[in-house]
Amino acid sequence: MKIALIAHDKKKTELIDFVSENRNVFSDHELFATGTTGRRIISASGLSIHCFQSGPLGGDQEIGASIARGEMDLVIFFRDPLTAQPHEPDVSALVRLCDVYSVPLATNISTAMLLVEALKRGDFEKVEGNRPSYENR
Ligand code: PGA
Repeated sequence: MKIALIAHDKKKTELIDFVSENRNVFSDHELFATGTTGRRIISASGLSIHCFQSGPLGGDQEIGASIARGEMDLVIFFRDPLTAQPHEPDVSALVRLCDVYSVPLATNISTAMLLVEALKRGDFEKVEGNRPSYENR
C-alpha cells in the first residue's frame, strides 16, 4: 500500500506521535509525505519515507498528482482547521482528488486510528473496486 502522510504545522507533533506509535504497521507499507512532515517523521521514527516538496511549495499538489495517476492508496492528512493556510487552494484540491478517485482520507486522528485498524485487518482490499476509471471522459 502506498500511504501519504501530511500535517499542518500545529498538527505535526500529533501525526509524528501517531505514526511512531503505529510504526510496526506503517513499516510494512510504502510511505510518502510532504517535505517537512516527512523529514520530521523520519527523524522521530527512522521509517523510510519519500519526501515531496514542502506543502506550501507544491508538496500537496505532488501528492495530488500521485492520486490522479492511481499511485496512492491512503492519505492521512492532519489538517489544522483553526489556522489560515497560504496554500489552502492546494489543500482543497488534494481533498477533492481523494473524492474524485475514492481514495480513503483521514483528516483527523480518530479517523486515522480507524483506518490503521482497517489496514491491520487487510480491509483495504474490500474498497479497491471503488476506484473509478475516467478513461472515456
Ligand atoms: P509540510 O507541508 O509537511 O512541508 O509542512 C504540509 C502542508 O502544510 O501541506
